[in-house]
Amino acid sequence: MNAVVGRGKCAKAAVGASKMVQAAEHKGCRTSSNSGQASCGSRAGQADLPTEIWEKVKSHPCYSEEAHHHYARMHVAVAPACNIQCNYCNRKYDCANESRPGVVSEKLTPEQAVKKALAVAATIPQMTVLGIAGPGDPLANPEKTFKTFELVAKAAPDIKLCLSTNGLSLPDYVDVIAKSKVDHVTITINMIDPEIGAKIYPWIFFNHRRYTGLDAARVLADRQLLGLEMLSERGILCKVNSVMIPHINDGHLVEVNKAVKSRGAFLHNIMPLISAPEYGTVFGLNGQRGPTAQELKALQDACEGEMNMMRHCRQCRADAVGLLGEDRSAEFTTDRVMKMDVKYDLEMRKAYQDRVEDERAAKAAASKEELGELAGAASEISLLVAVATKGSGLINEHFGHAREFQVYELSTSGTKFVGHRRVDVYCQGGDGEKDRLSTIIRGINDCHAVFVAKIGGSPKSNLIKAGIEPVDQYAHELFEKSVISWFRSYLDRVKSGEIQHVKRGDASIRQKAVISAA
Ligand code: SF4
Repeated sequence: MNAVVGRGKCAKAAVGASKMVQAAEHKGCRTSSNSGQASCGSRAGQADLPTEIWEKVKSHPCYSEEAHHHYARMHVAVAPACNIQCNYCNRKYDCANESRPGVVSEKLTPEQAVKKALAVAATIPQMTVLGIAGPGDPLANPEKTFKTFELVAKAAPDIKLCLSTNGLSLPDYVDVIAKSKVDHVTITINMIDPEIGAKIYPWIFFNHRRYTGLDAARVLADRQLLGLEMLSERGILCKVNSVMIPHINDGHLVEVNKAVKSRGAFLHNIMPLISAPEYGTVFGLNGQRGPTAQELKALQDACEGEMNMMRHCRQCRADAVGLLGEDRSAEFTTDRVMKMDVKYDLEMRKAYQDRVEDERAAKAAASKEELGELAGAASEISLLVAVATKGSGLINEHFGHAREFQVYELSTSGTKFVGHRRVDVYCQGGDGEKDRLSTIIRGINDCHAVFVAKIGGSPKSNLIKAGIEPVDQYAHELFEKSVISWFRSYLDRVKSGEIQHVKRGDASIRQKAVISAA
C-alpha cells in the first residue's frame, strides 16, 4: 500500500511508467578512456565527463574529490526546523570543535547569511560553493532557504548554490529549486525498504499529520525517490548521502545504491554512523555502534560501479566554512561579520581561481608522469597509506598537528582516494601525549605508511613499532606523485627481499569531537 496522500504521490504514479523505464536505463556518465571503467563521480576528471557536467563539478569540493584539495565551501545555518526525526540526529548538542551534521553555533537570518557569504568570499577567494544544510531541513524552512538563495545569487553570482535535504518535501519544491539556480542537491536516503526505515525514523511530519513506524518510512522513501527522479529530469546534479548503520541498513545499502543510480543520482556518499553516547542520539544512547574503517571501505567498494562513490565527505557542521577538513567558522561569527567592511571583488576571485586551475593542471601532469614510471611494475600488492596535508595537494602538515589523515590505496594501477581519518591532534602546546598517539595509530592501523612534513622521535619510533612506516622525505612535495614514488621503492624492496609485504589489520573511525590544536 502506498501511504502517501494529498500532495505526496507515489513515484510511479507521478512520474509515469515510461519515465520510470527511462530512469532505470540511466547508465551514468561517460566511461573513462584510461581505465575502461565508468567514471562519473568524485574521481572523474575533465576527460571522463560531458563538458556541461564538468563545468558544474570542477570547482565543487564535494562533487570532485580532486577539487576538494583546492576549493572551499560554506554552509549558512538559516534552516532550524525539521520535519522528520532520525535516530542518529540530535541538534541540541554543540561543541565548537565538533564536525557533525546538524551542529551549529549560531542561526542566521537570510540577510545575515548573505553578509556572511560576501565576507567569506572576499576573505577566501577559493570559496566556490554556498550550501544550506540545516541545522534542520532546508525545505522545512522554505521561505528562509529560498530568500537566502535569491539574495546570494544576486550579490555573488559566481558562487554555486547547494541544498541538502531529507527529501520529504522535495517533490513540492523541485520547480522552485530549479528557478533558484540551485544546481546541486543532496538527498539523504538511508533505505528503500520501510521495514528498515522504521528502525531509523521514529516519525515524520507530512501533510499536517504525524506518521510513525512503517507508514512514516513508506511515505519518506516514496517522496525521496520521487524527488530524486524529478531533479534528475531537470538536469540538476544529485548526490545521495546514506548513513551506514551496522546490522540495520549496512547490507541494504547496496540495494539503495542500485535504486538511486537507476533514478539518475550522480554520486553516492556512504558515511559512517556517528554515535558517541554524549551526543544524546537514540542510537548513541542505545549503544548502536558505527562501522569500522574496513567495513565502510568494503561497502563503498561493493557499491562502486558506474556511479562513483564519494569518499571525501567530512560530515560537516551546518555552519562549516573553509576547505573540507578545516573549519574556519569561528572567524566568521555574526558579531565579526557585521563589523567587517566587505569588498566583493569578482575579478580578484576569478584571477585567484585561474591560478588555482594552472597549479592543478601542473600537479596532475606531474602525477601522470610518476604513474608512467610505475606502469612497467607488475605486482599483486595493493596497500593503504595515510597523508598529512593542509591542502593544495601537498604533504605539508606536521604529524603532531594533523587533525586528520587522508588515506590512499596504492596499486600498480595508481592511487585511489579511500577516505580520511579524523584524529586527536597529537601535539597540544608542544607536547605529545601517549593516549592520543594510540588513538591516532588505531585510526590509521590499516595503513602501511604515513606521509608527513615532519615528525618527532617518539611518535616515529611508536609508529615503526606498530608496523607503520613514517615517511618524511617528501615534505612539502605533491602527495600523489610522492606516494607513487614511495610505492615503487616499496615494491623494489619487497622484490629484493629487503622487506616482506604483510597485510595490515582494521582501523577505527573516530566518533567523538576532535580535540583542537593549541
Ligand atoms: S557534509 Fe559532505 S557533502 Fe556536505 S559539505 Fe561537507 S563534505 Fe561536502
